[in-house]
Amino acid sequence: MKKMSLPMQILIALVLGIAVGLICYFGGFASITTNYLKPFGDIFVNLLKFIVVPVVLLSMIDGIISMNDMRKVGSVSVKTVVYFLCTTAIACVIGLVFANIFNGAGLFPVLDAASAEYDAKEFGGFMATLVSIFPTNMWKSFTDANMLQVIVISLFLGGAILAAGERAKLCRDFVSSAYAVIEQLMSFIISLAPIGVFTYMAWVVATQGSEILVSLLLVIVCAYLGYIVHAVLVYSLSAKIFVGMSPVKFFKGAFAAMIFAFTSTSSAATLPVSKECAAELGAEDDIASFVLPLGSTINMDGTAIYQCVATVFLASCANIHLTIGQMIIVVVTATLASVGTAGVSGAGMIMLAMVLEALGIPVAYIGLIVAVDRIFDMGRTCLNVTGDIACSVCVTKWEGKKE
Ligand code: ASP
Repeated sequence: MKKMSLPMQILIALVLGIAVGLICYFGGFASITTNYLKPFGDIFVNLLKFIVVPVVLLSMIDGIISMNDMRKVGSVSVKTVVYFLCTTAIACVIGLVFANIFNGAGLFPVLDAASAEYDAKEFGGFMATLVSIFPTNMWKSFTDANMLQVIVISLFLGGAILAAGERAKLCRDFVSSAYAVIEQLMSFIISLAPIGVFTYMAWVVATQGSEILVSLLLVIVCAYLGYIVHAVLVYSLSAKIFVGMSPVKFFKGAFAAMIFAFTSTSSAATLPVSKECAAELGAEDDIASFVLPLGSTINMDGTAIYQCVATVFLASCANIHLTIGQMIIVVVTATLASVGTAGVSGAGMIMLAMVLEALGIPVAYIGLIVAVDRIFDMGRTCLNVTGDIACSVCVTKWEGKKE
């Protein structure tokens, strides 16, 4: 009997998860999903998290070594970063357009923020953030899973191995061999993805049907419209224009990673699945090994859209009318905040504080949307991951390697 493909298994798990979630919600036993189903999803996400640091480290170093030429690494990096930054800036504009349409039409609810509470993270400013990307202790970066630092370490180590030439042969072989082991481990863990998707979906559907969801429904709809328009407009168009790939083919190829990101709400945890999808869409292995880990750390278009929509909504709750100049500040800070957002569940909301601070909106207002963050997060992570895959396919084409 032919084995069912992973995307198909994931799709069935998603539908089953929704069905079981609805039964538990309407049957009044939602707590069963929290107590007995979610823990299996947590086990699965823990397994993915435990390999994230070695995957990013080895994948990027292996990608750099396979390119075997610092000039090519530089050219791929520049193209990747330009693609990431341009698409993120477009995402901000799309987010702001939708948020302003909804706000202008009076569709956003005006919530009383007097009792809103949220403990925001302190930001030390741009220069301090820049300095903190460079690690002082490599092992600490690994144990803290500080992915921006892990990326910097990978770039330096990969570059140094290339520069050392023949003398680094042992290191090269070690990296390739260790990466092969990690890849094997990844494919085993990914084969468990349907379990993760089913359990998380059942839990979300059963537990999120609260009043707050209804009151914030239009803000959620606004963000999801932004996500969908961005995916269709920017990713499928760039795949069509630059790679000549039909949108249907692109989304079909990216499907497994999109669903997986949607349920796990972590770009970093989705990395192994994204790699398989990118390979299926024709991304060159060395380029995907470099672009995807980088993207799962710094490319967050969904997060940028969410931050723009949330900012306009919270500003209206605070009775602040944003001027065009302030909107430009939103585009710049949301782009930077999304770069600084870690690819883990809920990180985009923590970084939202940075955008609010720049505009003088009280960060405690985040308390108004914290309860439904997972719903926003599902869509934004799905978009974040799709952007990484689109970039790896485009950069492959630009590097002239796609056959
Ligand atoms: N969960 C998102 C991701 O992993 C980040 C965010 O919270 O916006 O891509």
